[in-house]
Amino acid sequence: MPNPISTVAIDGPAGSGKSTVGAALAAQLGFLYFDTGVMYRAVALAALRLTISHEDGEALAALAHRLHIEVLPPTIDDGRQYTILLDGEDVTWVLRAKDVEALVSAVARHAAVREEMVRQQQRIAAPGHIIMVGRDIGTVVLPNADAKIYLIASAEERARRRHAELIAKGDTIDYERVLADVRERDARDSSRAVSPLRPADDALIFDCTGMSVQETITRVLALIREVVDAG
Ligand code: C5P
Repeated sequence: MPNPISTVAIDGPAGSGKSTVGAALAAQLGFLYFDTGVMYRAVALAALRLTISHEDGEALAALAHRLHIEVLPPTIDDGRQYTILLDGEDVTWVLRAKDVEALVSAVARHAAVREEMVRQQQRIAAPGHIIMVGRDIGTVVLPNADAKIYLIASAEERARRRHAELIAKGDTIDYERVLADVRERDARDSSRAVSPLRPADDALIFDCTGMSVQETITRVLALIREVVDAG
């Protein structure tokens, strides 16, 4: 009998398609989909509002500890994958704002902030049947995940996707600027001292450059099934 699969870790750089793929896989497998990036974004948003410096790791960790972040199934049919409540307030779209995006990596680099986030994420994943998406899921949060996928795509392709998303939302930002932002966030996430973005030794690295979303989903699902069958 193959192992029944219960926990899947999906990591990779910004814009590699982790959330689209993760959500689709979760729907197919009947699992909970959990995007850990929203937790770091929620801390960044709260820090902005309270004017806590991104350099003050202690204050940020205390903030992370006391914030109540809830991830619920979508409460409004407006294209969202989930609803995020921050101390009861719906911040689902605010978390995608440019000022939050500009700050989040600086907040996420603090060890004390990460410890708090990882503790909460491990608690959320404990019941299993979950696809957890982020940067350090396979390496730190769920080192014993049943399947680990590390999704990559070229920086240009990730910037093209992000640019198209922003334009669709009415933004007028140019592509070169988005590409520069993608590269900067990659560099910060990969070079930080604590839990840098990198594939776990036992992760399956999947490059989806040039692939449609549907093709990526189909191929990643096939990869996961291979892992399960091999188990
Ligand atoms: O995935 P998303 O773009 O929403 O993540 C926002 C930021 O949160 C990342 O750029 C990274 O700095 C941080 N993050 C992290 N570890 C995770 C998830 C996100 O450091 N597991």
